[in-house]
Amino acid sequence: MALSVQISLPNGKSYEQPTGLFVNNEFVQGHGERFTVIDPVSEGQIIQLQGASSDDIDGAVAAARAAFEGEWSELPSTERGVFLYKIAALIDRDRDLLAAIDAYDNGKLLAAAEGDIEESFQVFRYYAGAADKITGRTIETSPQKLAYVLQEPLGVCGQIIPWNFPLMMLAWKVAPALACGNTVVLKPAEQTPLSALYFGKLIIEAGLPPGVINIVPGLGPVAGKAISSHVGIDKVAFTGSTATGRAIMREAATNLKNITLECGGKSPCIVFDDCNFEQAVKWSHFGIMDNKGEVCTSTSRIYVHEAIYDRFLERFVQVTKENDKLGNPFSTETLQGPQVSKPQYDKILSYIEQGKSSGARLLYGGAKQSAQGYFIQPTVFVDTTEEMAIVREEIFGPVVVISKFSSTQEVLEKANNTSYGLAAAVFTEKISKAHTVARKLQAGMVWINSSGESHYGIPFGGYKSSGIGRELGQYALDAYTQSKAIHVNLSEE
Ligand code: NAD
Repeated sequence: MALSVQISLPNGKSYEQPTGLFVNNEFVQGHGERFTVIDPVSEGQIIQLQGASSDDIDGAVAAARAAFEGEWSELPSTERGVFLYKIAALIDRDRDLLAAIDAYDNGKLLAAAEGDIEESFQVFRYYAGAADKITGRTIETSPQKLAYVLQEPLGVCGQIIPWNFPLMMLAWKVAPALACGNTVVLKPAEQTPLSALYFGKLIIEAGLPPGVINIVPGLGPVAGKAISSHVGIDKVAFTGSTATGRAIMREAATNLKNITLECGGKSPCIVFDDCNFEQAVKWSHFGIMDNKGEVCTSTSRIYVHEAIYDRFLERFVQVTKENDKLGNPFSTETLQGPQVSKPQYDKILSYIEQGKSSGARLLYGGAKQSAQGYFIQPTVFVDTTEEMAIVREEIFGPVVVISKFSSTQEVLEKANNTSYGLAAAVFTEKISKAHTVARKLQAGMVWINSSGESHYGIPFGGYKSSGIGRELGQYALDAYTQSKAIHVNLSEE
């Protein structure tokens, strides 16, 4: 059975898409459930895939284990870095194709997908350079003893990624894991598995030893569960919803796996009356509407000081209207694509209905945009109370709630009154206020006078129910290594 199909992309180009599981540098037949990959613009089928069964995961783990204990572990760290440079170069070469695949599969703007691929390239290059700079320490104890610490890889890493940044989430997880000398079994989201499978072809081309990277598309409760509960896996790294993060943590307890969880958020954005007004409007709009609101760090709760509240609402609605250009992600006229899937679309629409029925005032949007495709207008609710579901729960769509505040104390209480703690934004021109508020916000990332920014050198992750551990930067090297203390007795005693 052929394990690839020709796919025609909306930009008129076509390419060969692998359809199997990628194990031991080969595409092999999966034995799990079949599932359909949908184009969110037309609601039509792109392809069907047969996912990984629990036995298939056993096979992938065995391949990753053999690679970890074989050739890969003997490789000097600089050589691991060279492989990562090769992967970066191949991503660079195929950037247009990879961006088109992700835009087609996810519904994100082509320009946004191009940004994701650029970041994926940068991430591989960053960790290529980091591979031979992971060092242990010697620790002074006494003249008769020598103690030193080796920084060693964890082993086989299971990685489970979401659909909002398909290749970029793969890059954030695979690159540091490999730099540290681990091997990987990665499950892409069932909604967006195409670029991850195509990435398998790049791995073969880069010449990585078989089994170092294995890519196993499949359903969360089957393939994902098999990864998180597998006793042959030493670490599980996950990005997705907090509910699934909890389930994974429970499964990972089987063999007390090392875990990194990057989960949901309901991040606040605080706009003080001494802000640069136009900057605050521009960034707070971007902070929620970017990537059609399908961003874990979206600043989906905006709190505006009462002195500028009415003016802010007026301008925010103007900007939202100007950006309300939904359509095909491949058109340069389009400013917002469709939501990724029917369940996501239905979930967002049901939150909009809940918002209306709970008494919030719909200031803009709130409608489905067309008969076909998962398009939802950018939506703005005001006059909300802190108890409403649209204020408390992660919607993961282009829906924002805006309310007013009168004092710093009041807004900090509201901002922190959530089980989440991923990100927060603060707008003020007063330097002392900006830094004081940033320190008091319970969030893993705080932006002062911007929103939604990240950089591969800066740690990314959440407080509270938004996650455990950090990705990116030097912090990810800690997440993918363990310390071994060696005690040497230099004396005759
Ligand atoms: P999800 O958390 O269920 O899925 C993310 C990944 O986890 C996918 O690869 C999925 O197959 C896998 N998965 C699902 N169930 C699993 C299980 N029992 N064991 C192991 N792996 C499992 O997310 P979703 O259902 O696609 O989206 C639901 C909500 O999650 C969204 O509305 C949004 O709120 C949130 N979400 C957050 C992020 C983020 O970046 N933090 C990304 C996507 C979705």
